[in-house]
Amino acid sequence: MNLNEYKKAVEQLNLYSYHYYVLDNPITTDEVYDKLYHEVLEYEEAHKADILKNSPTQRVGDVVSEGFSKASHLSRMWSLEDIFDTDGLQKWLTKTYKLDENISFYCEPKYDGASLNLIYENGELFQAITRGDGEIGELITQNVKTIRSVPLTIEHKNKIEIRGEVVIYKDEFAKINQARVKNAEAVFANPRNAAAGSLRQLDSSITASRNLVFLPYGVGENTLEHKLLSQKMEYIYSLGFKRPPIRSTCKDFYEIEAVYQEMNKNRDNYPMMLDGMVIKVDEIAAQIDMGHTVKNPRFSVAYKFPAVEKITTVKKIILQVGRTGVVTPVAIVKPTNIDGVIVERATLHNFDEIDRKDIRLNDKVIILRSGDVIPKIIKVLTHERDGSEVEYKRPTECPVCKSELLDEGVLLKCQNLTCEARVINSIIYFASKPCLNIDGLGVKIVEALFESGLVKSVVDLFDLTLDKLLMLEGFKAKKAQNLLYALEKAKRCEYWRFVNSLGIEHIGEVASKTLSANFGSGFMDATKEQIISCDGVGEEMAESVLEFVRVNRDTILRLQDILKPLEPLQKEEAKDNIFKGKSVVLTGSMSESRDKIKEMLESLGAKVVSSVSKKTDFVIYGEDAGSKYDKAMDLGVECLNEEEMRGKIEQT
Ligand code: NAD
Repeated sequence: MNLNEYKKAVEQLNLYSYHYYVLDNPITTDEVYDKLYHEVLEYEEAHKADILKNSPTQRVGDVVSEGFSKASHLSRMWSLEDIFDTDGLQKWLTKTYKLDENISFYCEPKYDGASLNLIYENGELFQAITRGDGEIGELITQNVKTIRSVPLTIEHKNKIEIRGEVVIYKDEFAKINQARVKNAEAVFANPRNAAAGSLRQLDSSITASRNLVFLPYGVGENTLEHKLLSQKMEYIYSLGFKRPPIRSTCKDFYEIEAVYQEMNKNRDNYPMMLDGMVIKVDEIAAQIDMGHTVKNPRFSVAYKFPAVEKITTVKKIILQVGRTGVVTPVAIVKPTNIDGVIVERATLHNFDEIDRKDIRLNDKVIILRSGDVIPKIIKVLTHERDGSEVEYKRPTECPVCKSELLDEGVLLKCQNLTCEARVINSIIYFASKPCLNIDGLGVKIVEALFESGLVKSVVDLFDLTLDKLLMLEGFKAKKAQNLLYALEKAKRCEYWRFVNSLGIEHIGEVASKTLSANFGSGFMDATKEQIISCDGVGEEMAESVLEFVRVNRDTILRLQDILKPLEPLQKEEAKDNIFKGKSVVLTGSMSESRDKIKEMLESLGAKVVSSVSKKTDFVIYGEDAGSKYDKAMDLGVECLNEEEMRGKIEQT
């Protein structure tokens, strides 16, 4: 790198930081940022006289944005030096042991969120300030008061600064983005940006709605006298703050490395995003001696996890046809190594997603691979377009059978029931674990059976014989016998498995169990009202069952004849009573759990459903009954409190 390139790199890093810290909308990955940052650092070490004042190595990264009043931290907030591998850890330990040999370490997760400083005075939360430039940050006390894991008062009267990270749990992040898609708002690229963006809202009610979580990781100004950081943190947690999901004190390299490996292996199982592990010298006296560089504490380092976000290019969009005919687009991307796995495809969910994110062929994109989830495109780098990108046109015909697709807006569907892809996928579904759980019917074998003409529908599976199977390429006696045995074993299955294996739209495992428990084989003759009165079954589901049975009754009966699924045990008929055959809704809290009361009413022959309608016969209400009670009153449905309900039962 020469001086000119150095200056450009600093400018580029500052641009990345502006999008990351101020707009909460990054335009590159952390990996790209970190690589350039380290190149700048290397140049500066060799050319100290050239160091620019605005270099990101000379200051804590955040920029204080307009719109909030500013406030000073009582003591400075810092950033962290980072390392990426065992070599880096070894070097950092050597450097740190030179400052003090008699030290041990405290390791905890590096949460990927936004830093926050809480100042408590006389046991009350006085101010909450973002890290800002380390000395001055944005005053966001009102917003922070909406975070439930931030205690408003603590049993510690002296003035204290408690530092931590504000995060959004991964499941909450998914919900926020789903809601944003619905409202046609731009989605957040990751939970870190969502947390930072939610924290710095001018309207506190938005912050309150985002379920942010505060995780403490240290203290600033304080009068605590603990000798070890680990003890200090235990004290902080005991004041009512959240504990980390994992923490450990370590003596040496090997112990640190073991904790790091453990944390990295489990990173997907923690509710919050972690981007590494922070190692801190545990002895407070040694920490004070070691002090800080212009930007980082010398007694601490961030040991980053391998990146899960990478930049790649969209090469092609291919289409997959599922058993229900839904056509799903999949992006084929330039092969990219993410944490040891070569990623070549990324899910696109549906055609709306392509439009919403404006994904074009040849676009540079950020893809995320975490856990076992299929990699997905989280952002298109539109600022890197050079004109070679090609817009993607929605298909009009099925890529497999070429029949015309039904365009439902979000979804495109192949309506041809005999489309090869639909048939093959429905056979695979029929054999899958939550259905008939037939071993040995994987994609390849089903394709071979279909192409040979032996199996054109699930019913044909049960006409297979040893001779027929032995005619197929790759089928030896053992494999054929195993398959026939597995098919035989699928007979006399539980009734709900049979219902589930039919692949009725909107009817999954839970609904199959409900239908089976309520009707057994009688589900084919149940009316819409009867189906809707089952708990958790809505109108769309009921209509789907009716339509499926209307079109496929003969096939269902034939399959039932072959499989002879076991009817669920019939419940004893209840004696006559006021609740028998009636639709009942429960609301509010009662003397026993609602499940127990539900069970009791069901044993009397009542159908306990979740929502109130004109068809509801009784609403039984407990304390704090809410909108269901109000609705029942509006509709004139009879309302009984728990005592009245018990009285009526006793009368029978
Ligand atoms: P950092 O986030 O790497 O590390 C310091 C921060 O870690 C602290 O301020 C604190 O908020 C947080 N932290 C979380 N858990 C902690 C714990 N247990 N103990 C102590 N601190 C903990 O440093 P930074 O200066 O905030 O940001 C630099 C990093 O941000 C870069 O390495 C890069 O990955 C990322 N970045 C990315 C872009 C981009 O465009 N993608 C731009 C700028 C910065």
